Amino acid sequence: MHEFSIINNLIKIILDIAEEEKLQRVTSITLRIGDLLHIVPETLVFAFDSVVKGTICDGAVLELEHVPVTVQCRSCSITFTVTENDFTCECGSGDVEMIGGKEMVIVKLDGDT
Ligand SMILES: [Zn+2]
Repeated sequence: MHEFSIINNLIKIILDIAEEEKLQRVTSITLRIGDLLHIVPETLVFAFDSVVKGTICDGAVLELEHVPVTVQCRSCSITFTVTENDFTCECGSGDVEMIGGKEMVIVKLDGDT
């Protein structure tokens, strides 16, 4: 269940931001998550709901934005989105560099002061 460790790390960052912004209550959080992290959205939301109980994030809505896995071909330099784990470029090369899809970013945090 790596969703729980992700949320445990995330919640510390969220609480720091909330403190900086002097929020009394956090109402919604938007997260951008790379598909390479293989997050199960339902599990992440479940983990979030359990972890935030009793904190100022209790009851906040967690919104998720997906970031597709994007790679750049080392042979012809084009970038493309990987679907169904097919890392082969249209030029036939399988020598690609990962440029997107591993990130996890808090894009938005709303709350009441
Ligand atoms: Zn190529």
